[in-house]
Amino acid sequence: MGQVAGKVAIVTGGASGIGEACSETLAREGASVLVTDVDDALGEGVIDRIAKAGGKAHYLHHDVRDEAAWPGVVAEAEKRFGRLDIVVANAGIGIMAPIESMTLADWQRQQAINLDGVFLSIKHAIPALRRAGGGSIVLMSSIAGLRGAPGLAAYSATKGGVRLLAKSVALEHAADGIRCNSVHPGIIATPIWGKIPTGAEGNRRNAPIDPRERAAAVVPLTRVGEAQDIANGVLFLCTDAANYMTGQELVIDGGMTAGGRPPPRTQ
Ligand code: NAD
Repeated sequence: MGQVAGKVAIVTGGASGIGEACSETLAREGASVLVTDVDDALGEGVIDRIAKAGGKAHYLHHDVRDEAAWPGVVAEAEKRFGRLDIVVANAGIGIMAPIESMTLADWQRQQAINLDGVFLSIKHAIPALRRAGGGSIVLMSSIAGLRGAPGLAAYSATKGGVRLLAKSVALEHAADGIRCNSVHPGIIATPIWGKIPTGAEGNRRNAPIDPRERAAAVVPLTRVGEAQDIANGVLFLCTDAANYMTGQELVIDGGMTAGGRPPPRTQ
């Protein structure tokens, strides 16, 4: 308890899955959390649970693509909680299709949320983090940002972009005491898998993927990841224990990227 006591965090896409687990974990460890998302019902649920557990949080409707609204989001964190120390740029979507047939609209939607949204999160948070004397920015990438996968070219392009964005931001703002790292989850059981658009347009997949089934086949630790597994890593990057860590990649994938190829199933 208390690993981020007194700190103030913004978590984008904080209403569901990994963002929800990050919001609840940071709050449980003593941070005041501004949860932002476009799903208001889920977002309100997250802050209710945090309040019932004795934590401090507030929910704000915000689409990460909306640059005009970003200054208001940062101002809300500072006005309500007094400062800003932590930004978890987590909001993201996944659209799978072969690159040859992917529509430009699908490509652009993914870029806008997964990459433009992360850029805007950083750009608008930096002045407030500087005012607080430094802080921690955590960018949600993926193992798809470390290596390629068929059907994931557009998603990988966004997550690879996030990976290098973290490194450049880390170097630009190291002297301000602002750290920036990327987190690379493997296959995590969250609602995102059920939201992957299916259907004929752009030759998308015909059926959603079951993450537990997929993980059973390719994860060395033989289980799917849980959102809490990722929130634990995010928490670490936000604590003072990670004070000397910036521009780095934290991979949390049950060993998926440890070898060149997925290990053969033995049972
Ligand atoms: P999720 O769908 O459960 O949560 C994503 C949240 O982002 C949702 O609450 C959604 O409403 C919100 N969101 C979507 N578009 C938004 C927008 N324009 N503005 C603000 N909020 C928006 O998915 P998740 O699995 O928790 O994904 C969180 C992050 O983790 C994403 O960046 C995803 O790419 C990444 N990731 C997930 C996995 C996995 O296996 N689940 C693996 C690697 C990386």
